[in-house]
Amino acid sequence: MTAKTYDVLIVGGGVSGTALLYELARYTDLDRIGLIEKYNDFATVNSKSSNNSQTIHCGDIETNYTLEKALKVKRTAGMLVNYAKSLPDDERDQIIFKYPKMVLGVGHDECDFLRKRFDVFKGHYPGMTLLEKEQVAEVEPQVIHTESGPRKEEIIALAITDDYTAVDYKAISESFVKQAQKTDKDIDLMLETGVHSIEKEGEIFKVQTNKGEYQARFVVVCAGGHSLLLAQQMGYGLNFSCLPVAGSFYFTPQVLNGKVYTVQNDKLPFAAIHGDPDVRVPGKTRFGPTALLLPMLERYNSKTIPEFFKVLKLDGSVFKVFWDLFKVSDIRNYIFKNFLFEIPWVRRRLFLKDARKIVPGLKLSDVTFAKKFGGIRPQLIDKDNKELMLGEARINPGTGIIFNMTPSPGGTSCLGNGENDLREIAKFLGCGFDEEAFNRELLDS
Ligand SMILES: Cc1cc2nc3c(=O)[nH]c(=O)nc-3n(C[C@H](O)[C@H](O)[C@H](O)COP(=O)(O)OP(=O)(O)OC[C@H]3O[C@@H](n4cnc5c(N)ncnc54)[C@H](O)[C@@H]3O)c2cc1C
Repeated sequence: MTAKTYDVLIVGGGVSGTALLYELARYTDLDRIGLIEKYNDFATVNSKSSNNSQTIHCGDIETNYTLEKALKVKRTAGMLVNYAKSLPDDERDQIIFKYPKMVLGVGHDECDFLRKRFDVFKGHYPGMTLLEKEQVAEVEPQVIHTESGPRKEEIIALAITDDYTAVDYKAISESFVKQAQKTDKDIDLMLETGVHSIEKEGEIFKVQTNKGEYQARFVVVCAGGHSLLLAQQMGYGLNFSCLPVAGSFYFTPQVLNGKVYTVQNDKLPFAAIHGDPDVRVPGKTRFGPTALLLPMLERYNSKTIPEFFKVLKLDGSVFKVFWDLFKVSDIRNYIFKNFLFEIPWVRRRLFLKDARKIVPGLKLSDVTFAKKFGGIRPQLIDKDNKELMLGEARINPGTGIIFNMTPSPGGTSCLGNGENDLREIAKFLGCGFDEEAFNRELLDS
């Protein structure tokens, strides 16, 4: 327990919380900053390298993004890369990685779609090229060639072949903490400290944990699905429900040199599968993620099942969102298929079919289920508008507390989301913000 009153207390030590810690320490004149994390290490939940796809999403190959959304993530992706590039080379090389990346169009409709997309996007992404089939084979031979010769379908790809495209979100979280500690700010890191509840008394927030009470003038909760739980305990965000979407992965021997994404079915709200190197598992290719609806806020943690039911708040509006999803046959089939992906004998066979869209020569014996890999995307349901929200969400009642919920691309957006919080904090507490240094270091490339 501490009698200190923090200027800002951050709850959650994943990539979102640690990015904010770094930005506050480096670019504001706030002095007392605390970070509370319930586990004994940073980034062990969704930001752990094995639990996400490790992609730096720039919007160039994500066909489910509009141009507007793409340019938004491009900016935040740039911040992440600029941060990592400012580190000594050996540290940078443990955090961000260069692999070629592409989105593959298979068949006439997808190729036509990608050609049109290229015309719209190329002006915004100077590194983007359109690869015809033979050029795809030069970058990713196994996407085109099989034992019986080159595949017959029409194929093109939109590709970026020389850029940072992958990141270890745990490594960057640890780096944020280390760099924050190098500043002259008074920073406290409270590990193995779980927040039970938060209340406001006068101007001060009182944060109750298993290790006692902490006090702060401003609180930012970056606790994934648990952010909604803590918000609702305070009476905020009651118009939201949560749909946790788990993602599993499969390993094969190394069949790809870089990241190969597929064109999104626009009826499906969750990203199509892709194949790519795992930055921590050399010599393999990792395919996925699947999209499995699971009644828990944290993957592989059954203690979070009752917490899920608390935030679900099942009523007519939530039921309508589920009904609307199930009504669409593509979505219904996709949901059922993703359940089957979890059944041991069936899953490899079924997944192989999907993975063969990327690498047609894959065999059943090549595919193994990646045990204990894959986290949960806490997608929110907007009960007022009866719709499933994609991307990150934020509850900001304007009272000195913010709650962040961060499904994909929340890893990529960590510094961008942190910037939004920082600006809100600066306004609320009236503290200084060195915007010139911020822009120079994170935004200018
Ligand atoms: C399958 C999958 C693939 C993905 N792929 C990508 C990708 O390629 N690129 C990308 O940009 N994003 C991706 N994402 C999303 C990305 O992983 C998340 O957006 C990001 O990790 C969220 O970081 P976070 O810090 O907000 O949450 P988390 O990493 O989940 O951290 C939350 C932290 O809060 C702590 N916490 C929770 N409750 C409490 C409490 N009561 N008290 C104290 N601490 C608490 C937890 O222990 C945890 O450390 C993917 C996600 C999944 C599931």
